[in-house]
Amino acid sequence: MTDTVSPDPLTLTGRISQMFPILTPAQISRIAARGRRHSVQPGEVLFEAGTERIPFFVVTKGRIEIVRPGGLAETLVAGHGPGQFSGEIQMLSGRRALNRGRASEPGEVIELDREELLALVQTDSELSEIIMRAFILRRVELIAHGFGDVVLIGSSHSSGTLRIKEFLSRNGHPYSYIDLDRDDTVQDMLDQFQVTVADVPVLICRGEVVLKNPDNRQVAACLGFNDAIDQTQIRDVVIVGAGPAGLAAAVYAASEGLDVLVIESNAPGGQAGSSSKIENYLGFPTGISGQALAARAYNQAQKFGAQVVIAQSAIRLVCDHKPYAIEIDDGRRVPARTVVIATGAEYRKPSFDNFTQYEGAGVYFGATFMEAQLCVDEDVIVVGGGNAAGQAAVFLSQTARHVHMLVRSTGLENSMSRYLIRRIEDNPAIILHRQTEIVAMEGGDHLELVSWRNNRFGRSETRAIRHVFFMTGAVPNTQWLDGCLIRDSVGFIKTGPDLSPEDLATTRWPLGRPPYLLETSLPDVFAVGDVRAGNIKRVASAVGEGSISIAFVHQVLHL
Ligand SMILES: Cc1cc2nc3c(=O)[nH]c(=O)nc-3n(C[C@H](O)[C@H](O)[C@H](O)COP(=O)(O)OP(=O)(O)OC[C@H]3O[C@@H](n4cnc5c(N)ncnc54)[C@H](O)[C@@H]3O)c2cc1C
Repeated sequence: MTDTVSPDPLTLTGRISQMFPILTPAQISRIAARGRRHSVQPGEVLFEAGTERIPFFVVTKGRIEIVRPGGLAETLVAGHGPGQFSGEIQMLSGRRALNRGRASEPGEVIELDREELLALVQTDSELSEIIMRAFILRRVELIAHGFGDVVLIGSSHSSGTLRIKEFLSRNGHPYSYIDLDRDDTVQDMLDQFQVTVADVPVLICRGEVVLKNPDNRQVAACLGFNDAIDQTQIRDVVIVGAGPAGLAAAVYAASEGLDVLVIESNAPGGQAGSSSKIENYLGFPTGISGQALAARAYNQAQKFGAQVVIAQSAIRLVCDHKPYAIEIDDGRRVPARTVVIATGAEYRKPSFDNFTQYEGAGVYFGATFMEAQLCVDEDVIVVGGGNAAGQAAVFLSQTARHVHMLVRSTGLENSMSRYLIRRIEDNPAIILHRQTEIVAMEGGDHLELVSWRNNRFGRSETRAIRHVFFMTGAVPNTQWLDGCLIRDSVGFIKTGPDLSPEDLATTRWPLGRPPYLLETSLPDVFAVGDVRAGNIKRVASAVGEGSISIAFVHQVLHL
């Protein structure tokens, strides 16, 4: 690891000019028109690590440095000279600064607060492109170097470690990781913070707060993910779920001037975020990982001013009076003029009693780079015959020794795209077991043995396999809507023309007009993406429906 971000052009492979661009005099004067010029003195601190809603600075004279505070010494992260600007992607969300910014020479800066910066990137397309690109590249570099405000001490045998790593990665938050199994010096650190090996995973936030095996909500709270967001004011639209459908709705709503809040129980990206590579989404001929797509959409939504609350679940829709409200798992209620439900679906959990014991320690519901690293040169099992299972098998075959694909049916033809079937057939590392299902799993802290049965021949066998990926169809996340909306027999939300006159009579639909396309049986409440009955379970349809729903949100808001 290097200890500076800016000065080594070789590691940045030519991206340095995009990461640290020098603005032209014309661009600087457009920024100056929105902010305030003032002089700075050497050593003057412009913002401190841990501060929320830090300002944006353009240097016109002198130099400012971004440093990582640590004990008596500081580590230089970046330096900005005349024409350059401070900041990275957290400026858009208003989250806490990861580093300290201070002047190193006498000089002058132009200062914009966060709202002024947002107005600039929303209205000046040339500066928006330069600033957004620099912010994103700087965040990528901070992640690559682990230059965050958090240290995770964990073990590859612990499911909690995998969960926290995934949570931080999917939220694009840089962190340093210390692996108990590989790092001999870790004991000193554990002693310093008075924790033991039994406490892992341990998270140390800003070198101060020590959390032992925290849940995602505690991690988000410690890192201040939601601190800058007011959850009490009434919003034009509250979107529940930040998968592709919710993020698309957020981008369109915010870019069209609506006041938008998104509530997400885990991290942006939804199911798509757990896909190693999406190859059929328009505009990405070489494919894109679900996480990369989600990160772009998340940044785009924030650029337009949408606010996204992380690691908080909607547990109830208060639907008996207006304004509606979304009750969150901490007891708070967020009022809303309109609601877009985009809570998607979750992979069906297996029926054995003991699978939860191995969740994250041999049993997985997504196959990304992180899980693939855990099964290098080992045999793995993928359960399921749909596209998600096919993608996972092909992806895992790049690192695993063998991938055993278990399907209950006699083949893949009715459930998987032709291109994936061909890749599976042509791949010697993938072994397809038709009419086969898992009947038992055994192990200690980690899964060790799996038994499966071939239902055609009634034969069972047990193998020493430590990793099973379940990709077996989805159930909708609609339990929290009980009593408010009409759903179909398996729980998906009915909308628009799918609502029969009987459905509308049952819920006492109060309006003279029928529900709009994507509108539920409750006026002004919409459902989009995988959670909606009749939806085609694809990223493109989720994005399409999320975008379209905003046209109807405008209609009901302006009636
Ligand atoms: C491994 C995998 C690979 C896939 N590959 C492809 C592909 O290649 N191409 C393709 O087109 N499609 C693919 N899909 C399908 C695609 O990802 C989904 O169709 C798409 O993600 C649906 O988007 P969504 O926003 O409707 O729902 P989801 O992606 O399910 O997102 C819903 C979001 O809502 C959140 N949420 C749920 N309940 C609550 C609550 N109560 N409160 C707050 N938040 C909540 C969830 O945490 C989640 O982030 C794949 C799916 C998987 C799992």
